[in-house]
Amino acid sequence: MVLALTEDQSEMQDITELSGNGIFQLRVRQAILAAQHSIKQVGLLLIAFDNPGNPLTAPDDHATEFSEAMWMRLRNVLRDSDTVVRMNGGEMAVLLPSVNGPEDVVLVANKILSKLEEPLCIEGLQMQVRPRLGIALFPEHSTNANILMQRADLALTVAKQKRNPYVLYSSEHTRVSRAPLRMSELRQAIVADQLFLLYQPKVNLKDGSVTGVEVLTRWQHPDLGLISPDDFIPVAERTGLIIPLTLWVLQQGLLQCRAWNNMGLDLSVAVNLSMWNLESPELPDQIQGLLKNTGVPPERLELEITESAIMGDPQRAMRTLTLIRDLGVAFAIDDFGTGYSSLAYLKKLPISSVKIDKSFVLNMEYDRDNAVIVRSITDLGHNLGLKVVAEGVETFESKEMLKAFDCDEAQGYYYSRPIPAYALTKLLTESATTLCRHVETAEDLSKVSAVIGGTNGATLGSKV
Ligand code: C2E
Ligand code: MG
Ligand code: MG
Repeated sequence: MVLALTEDQSEMQDITELSGNGIFQLRVRQAILAAQHSIKQVGLLLIAFDNPGNPLTAPDDHATEFSEAMWMRLRNVLRDSDTVVRMNGGEMAVLLPSVNGPEDVVLVANKILSKLEEPLCIEGLQMQVRPRLGIALFPEHSTNANILMQRADLALTVAKQKRNPYVLYSSEHTRVSRAPLRMSELRQAIVADQLFLLYQPKVNLKDGSVTGVEVLTRWQHPDLGLISPDDFIPVAERTGLIIPLTLWVLQQGLLQCRAWNNMGLDLSVAVNLSMWNLESPELPDQIQGLLKNTGVPPERLELEITESAIMGDPQRAMRTLTLIRDLGVAFAIDDFGTGYSSLAYLKKLPISSVKIDKSFVLNMEYDRDNAVIVRSITDLGHNLGLKVVAEGVETFESKEMLKAFDCDEAQGYYYSRPIPAYALTKLLTESATTLCRHVETAEDLSKVSAVIGGTNGATLGSKV
C-alpha cells in the first residue's frame, strides 16, 4: 500500500517529529521519488546511543528525558527541510532529502556528533553521550527505500561493533550483516546449548601472576555463526532473557572456577551483570544458592557492573549491591570513564575495584590525553581505596606505562584474548607462568600463543 501525505501534511512544520518506523519509510520513499528527477541525492542516518538512559535498556524517566534532549539537539542542528524521527526501539533517524553526495552527509554527521556529544545533565547527574551513526545514500547504496533503511541499519551495526562514531554503508558490510536476532531464537539458544563461555585472564602488573578471569559469553548460532555479546546482550536485556542468561553464566563460570581451584589453580571468576540483574530482587538469594551448590567460596566471585547499570535505579541497585557484597562477593565498576561521571557516588558504592575502559587504554602510548585520563583514574581509584584494573592492554608499551602509573592489574590481548576454559587451563598449567610471569616481549607472547594454537577468541567454536 502506498500512502501519500496530503498537501497539509507535507506543509506542516518541516522538521517533523514523527513516531514509528513506518511513517519515516514513507518520507524516505517520497524523498527518493523527488530525487529521481534531480541530480541530488538522499541521505539517511540512523543514530543509536551507547549510554545510560538509552531507551533500549532503560524504559524509565531518564530514558524519556534522554530521548527528548537528543531529539531537541538534532532539531537544532538540522535544517528545516530535514526530517528527524524517534524510531521504535530508541534509535533516531534523520532524512536529508537533498544532498550533493557522501561528503555532504559526512559533514552533517560530524555536526550531529559534536552536538549530541555535548555533556548532558539529568537530575543533577552529568552523563557523556556516545552516539553511533549508520549512513546510507540514495542512489549510491540503493534506489529502494526499504533496502536503503536496511543498509543504514547495517552501517549502524558496524559502527557499534567497531565503536566508530559513524560508518558509511559499504557493500563489504553485507557479509557481516546484523543477525536478525529474535527473542525465540535466544531463548532456544539457552536451552539448545548454543551459548558458550570464553575466559580472559587478568594479570597482576607487579608480579605477573594471573589473579582471575573474566567470563565472556558467545552465541554459536546455527545459521548466523558466531554472534558477539554486543549484539545479543541488548536483545536479552530488552526481552528479560538476561535474567536466565546471567544465572546460566554464573553457574557455568562458578563450576569452572571450582574445577580450576580443585586443580590447584588459584583463580577467581568475574561475571558481567546488566542493569536488569540489579533490579531483580531475587538476585542476592540466587547468587547465594549458586555459591552453595557449586561450593565456590564467595571471595572467588567478582561481579562487573557498569556505571549506567547502577544509575538506572541507584537506590535499588545500592540495596542489591550491599546484600550481595555482604555475602562476601566483590564488585568491580566496568568500562569506567564512559558513563556517568558521578565520582561522589562511586565513593558510596560497595565496590572493590574499577576497570578503566579500553577506549582510554588502547592507544594510550600515542594519545597523551588518554594517558593522562588513565593515570588520573588510577590515582582516583587508589585514593578511594580501590583496586584499579586496565582493560584493552594490547601492547608491551601500554603495559609498561600502566606499571609506571602504579595500576594494579591488566587485561587484554597482550596477555591473551578471551579463550575457552580448556585452552586457558593448558596455558596456566603448561605455560601460564611463562605467559604471565616472564613474558615481557612480543616474541615471548607469540611463543606462548603457539602453545595453545593461537589465542584468537573469534576463531574458537568449542563449547565450554
Ligand atoms: P566487557 O565486560 O568490558 O569485556 C571486555 C571486552 O573487551 C570483551 O569483549 C573483550 O573481548 C574485549 N577485550 C579484552 N581485551 C581487549 C584488547 O586488548 N583489545 C580489544 N580491542 N578488546 C579487548 P566481548 O567479549 O566482545 O564482550 C563485550 C561486552 O559484552 C563485555 O564488555 C560485556 O559488557 C558484555 N558481555 C559479555 N558477556 C556478557 C555476559 O555474560 N553478561 C552480560 N551482561 N554482558 C556480557
Ligand atoms: Mg566486563
Ligand atoms: Mg569493560
